[in-house]
Amino acid sequence: MSNVHNFSAGPCILPQEVFEKSAQAILNFNDIGLSILEISHRSKDFVAVMDEARAIVKRLMKLGDDYEVLYLGGGASLQFLMVPFNLLKTKAAYLDTGTWAAGAIKEAKMVGEIDIIASSKADNYAYIPKDYEVRSEYDYFHCTSNNTIYGTQMKSFPKVDTLMVCDMSSDIFSRDIDFSQFDLIYAGAQKNMGPAGVTLVVVKKSILGKTDRVIPSYLNYQQHIDKESMLNTPPVFPVYASLLTLQHLEKNGGIAAAEQRNISKAHLLYDEIDRNPNFETFCRAEDRSLMNISFKLTDESKKDAFDAAWKAAGISGLNGHRSLGGYRASMYNAMPIESVQVLVDVMSSLK
Ligand SMILES: *Cc1c(COP(=O)(O)O)cnc(C)c1O
Repeated sequence: MSNVHNFSAGPCILPQEVFEKSAQAILNFNDIGLSILEISHRSKDFVAVMDEARAIVKRLMKLGDDYEVLYLGGGASLQFLMVPFNLLKTKAAYLDTGTWAAGAIKEAKMVGEIDIIASSKADNYAYIPKDYEVRSEYDYFHCTSNNTIYGTQMKSFPKVDTLMVCDMSSDIFSRDIDFSQFDLIYAGAQKNMGPAGVTLVVVKKSILGKTDRVIPSYLNYQQHIDKESMLNTPPVFPVYASLLTLQHLEKNGGIAAAEQRNISKAHLLYDEIDRNPNFETFCRAEDRSLMNISFKLTDESKKDAFDAAWKAAGISGLNGHRSLGGYRASMYNAMPIESVQVLVDVMSSLK
């Protein structure tokens, strides 16, 4: 065990068991005498990995056969483009809650017409807009469940009369929600489910094939579904490490148990921020994220002392996003509460 407490926003902490099993698979995968890095993605050993990696997502999310699970390249960023390519006919509605949401909007505008139906940009994304209506004329509604940079999270999702698409990159598998309210979910793996290099897409099959647009093969969800996520060589190692992470989650009580742990961790830190006059969050209390806690010093002159103290305590990855400054404690599923306690102790001893 290392004594470093990794609060990095992504790529991020993963369970120790995942590191050990991944390392073993690089040396000798499934005892076949070969590395997972050198076997064919069409071999029986790897096809079994992909099949289980797809199946476990549906089990954890309690989704039925009307959904398909894909592991794709290109990051969540490519999904910003793939979503409108596959779903946009005339107009889509986007909720602008941060830099990533704005990125999704920018890409979608290259494909067709977009309405930003609500935005908190004017307040530096310090809250989640709630006063908006998604009319049924829209082909779909796109939202971002957790805003990694600002530390805000949607606590509930609107009832909409159209398709609902969600970028869950930074809070996927962190809380027990009704996943069947979404028609398409995507997430870059590197925030809460695996290493960088693979992106999870969960899509309801019946929503596809409704646009006349010519869709290039790699951008076409249906082609990936037809080829069972092996349209081209998949990122085999990130898929395997993601499977290990999800197996670890399933063994430890699934999403509901992870949510309880995440709530305890977040409360521990928010309670300290609220108690301690040296600190404050960037965002409004009602929208605070369980995953990424962005906060700042109330008195900048204490910066050197605080930075020295958390570094001395073995804390890593606490600097805020470059666009916001301050600090960000990312507390993904794999972060133990003991590490949060170390941070809280450092904060409470700051004079
Ligand atoms: C990190 C992040 C992205 C970008 O993910 P990539 O996989 O790097 O493209 C998109 N959306 C959210 C919410 C993120 O946190």
